[in-house]
Amino acid sequence: MENKKEMRAWLEAFKLDHPLVIAGPCSAETEEQVLKIAHELKDSKVSVFRAGIWKPRTRPGGFEGVGEIGLKWLQKAKAETGMLMGTEVATAAHCKLALEHDIDVLWVGARTTANPFAVQEIADTLKGTDKIVLVKNPVNPDLALWLGGVERLHMAGIEKLGVIHRGFSTYQKTKYRNIPEWQIAIELQNKFPDLPLIIDPSHITGNRDMIFEVTQEALDLNYDGMIIETHIDPDNAWSDAAQQVTPDSLKQIIKDLTIRKTDDNTDEYSSKMSKLRANIDVLDANLLELLGKRMQVADEIGQVKKDANVAILQNNRWNEILGKMILEGEKKGLSEEFVLKMFKAIHQESIGHQEKIFNA
Ligand code: PEP
Ligand code: MN
Repeated sequence: MENKKEMRAWLEAFKLDHPLVIAGPCSAETEEQVLKIAHELKDSKVSVFRAGIWKPRTRPGGFEGVGEIGLKWLQKAKAETGMLMGTEVATAAHCKLALEHDIDVLWVGARTTANPFAVQEIADTLKGTDKIVLVKNPVNPDLALWLGGVERLHMAGIEKLGVIHRGFSTYQKTKYRNIPEWQIAIELQNKFPDLPLIIDPSHITGNRDMIFEVTQEALDLNYDGMIIETHIDPDNAWSDAAQQVTPDSLKQIIKDLTIRKTDDNTDEYSSKMSKLRANIDVLDANLLELLGKRMQVADEIGQVKKDANVAILQNNRWNEILGKMILEGEKKGLSEEFVLKMFKAIHQESIGHQEKIFNA
C-alpha cells in the first residue's frame, strides 16, 4: 500500500498532545441523551463524539438503533459543541445517509469487517471521501480479513484511514467479552506502521471496571487512541449497559493514564538498551540452537519408531510432558498460556520432523 504517511496525516492534523479520544454512548437513544452527553464531554480531551445510530444485534428483537433521525441529533451536537461526530456504517444506505448528514468519522463494525461483500459495498459508496474511516477488527481472529478491509477502503481512494482493536470472540471462558489479541494488532501495525491504531476497551472488556487497565495496556504498546463508550446513565443504557462509563469516570480514566513516549534519544537510555538488547540477541540465538538440537533428537526418535513400526503420536507421554513443563515454567515466571502455546508449537514441529522420517 502506498501513501502510508498520508494515513497518519489526519491524526496529526488534530495536533494533540495526548492520544486521540473518541467517546460517547454505545447508541444514540434520544435527542436529549445525545446532547447531554456531548455537552459533558465538550471541555475534555475528547475530540470525536461517538454514537451508534444503526445497531447490529446478534439476535433479532433487541434495540436496533434509532436510525436516520439520530443523525440530526449528531448534527445538533456538533453545532453546539464543535466536536467531530462518528458513527458505525454497515450498508450503502447507511453510508449515503451519514455523508448527507456530514458525519466526520465512519467506522466499519466487527461483524461487517468479517464480510468482504459488505466492506466492498461500503468502499464503493464512500469512494474518494475525505471523511475519516476506521476499520474494526473482524469478530474472528483473522488478520487477513482485517487487512483486507483496510485495503478495500484504501483502493477506493479513502486516505484518512485507521483501525480499531475491539477484541475477538472466543468459545473459551475468559474475563473479557472479546479477547484482546495483541499479537494480531502488532502484526497489522508491522504491515502498516503509519496506520493509526485505536483501542476499544469497552467491547474488549464488556465491563466498566476493566476499561482503565486495558486502555493502559494499549498505550504501553504505543496505540494512537481510544474509543470508550460513555453514557450519562450507564446502568439504564439501551445497549451495552455494563461496559459504559459516565463522563466523569471517563475524565478520571484519561487523567490516570500514563502516556508513554515512542522513544528516548538520551545517551543513558541508548547505552542501557543496547546492552540489554545484545543480551537478548545472544539468548535468542541460544534458543534457536537448542531448538535445532531438539529437532535432531526428534529425527532420531522418528527413526527408532519407524524401525519398530510404532505410531508417531503417543498422547499419554505428551500430556505428561506438558503438565511437567507448565509446573517448571511457573517456577521461572512463565505463564501457563505461554508454556502451552510454546510446547504445542514445538510438538507440532517435532511431529513434522518425524513424519518426514516416516515418509523418507
Ligand atoms: C459499537 O462500537 O457499538 C459496536 C457495535 O462495536 P463492534 O462492532 O466492535 O461490536
Ligand atoms: Mn456497544
